[in-house]
Amino acid sequence: MNVFVFLGPAGSGKGTQAQYLKNEHMFYHLSTGDMLRDEVASKSKLGLRLKEVIDSGNLVTDDIILDIISSNISKIVNDSHYEGIVFDGFPRTIAQANGFKSILDNYKLNVDQTFLFDLSLEASLDRISGRRIDPRNNTVYHILSNPAPDDVKKHLILRDDDQPEKVSHRYKLYQEQTAPLIDYYTDSLTKINCELSIQDIYAQFDQHIKLFQQKV
Ligand code: ADP
Repeated sequence: MNVFVFLGPAGSGKGTQAQYLKNEHMFYHLSTGDMLRDEVASKSKLGLRLKEVIDSGNLVTDDIILDIISSNISKIVNDSHYEGIVFDGFPRTIAQANGFKSILDNYKLNVDQTFLFDLSLEASLDRISGRRIDPRNNTVYHILSNPAPDDVKKHLILRDDDQPEKVSHRYKLYQEQTAPLIDYYTDSLTKINCELSIQDIYAQFDQHIKLFQQKV
């Protein structure tokens, strides 16, 4: 079971490339953002609390995130039809990375590859302002670079936390709390330049995946 971690600011294309690993390489796509949004949609007590935090662009507490990961990981690890798990948007703090290490130790796993999806604040703002989500299945589109099919368009939404001032705040938190993970995962890190088109990012990423597969 290969364990991949995707680091990168909002709009860097982590989710899009994770979808590729899911569809082409039998990876389980674990997005903490999607899991949290599902909890919000369920209108549970926890969901209502989470909605406030997420909509304000802040990070959910490490305890809640680590709880979500530890209660979901065993059924994925024990499902032999997955080649790996891609963690998209987790860990996001050093405390989460330390907790993650302990969780993985229980399964004798470790992080095999960390991909850094690199993007400037300007590009992040640009991307997110055009991002639209289909909330029925969390598929991500972009009004210019990746438009939705006509029959899907009426379902699309702009996430509350995708308003420009929230995106700047999230970028600041990314730099303060998540960027230190670049050093933490330095031994397994591969950097992907994300100031390119989806196809060019995909080509770079695909090349790294093929290299990784040759090594193992
Ligand atoms: P993006 O990829 O656009 O940054 P996500 O869908 O990954 O967005 O996350 C949306 C929001 O969910 C974050 O801004 C944060 O509030 C919360 N969140 C997701 N993952 C984590 C995490 N690992 N730790 C803390 N908060 C998280």
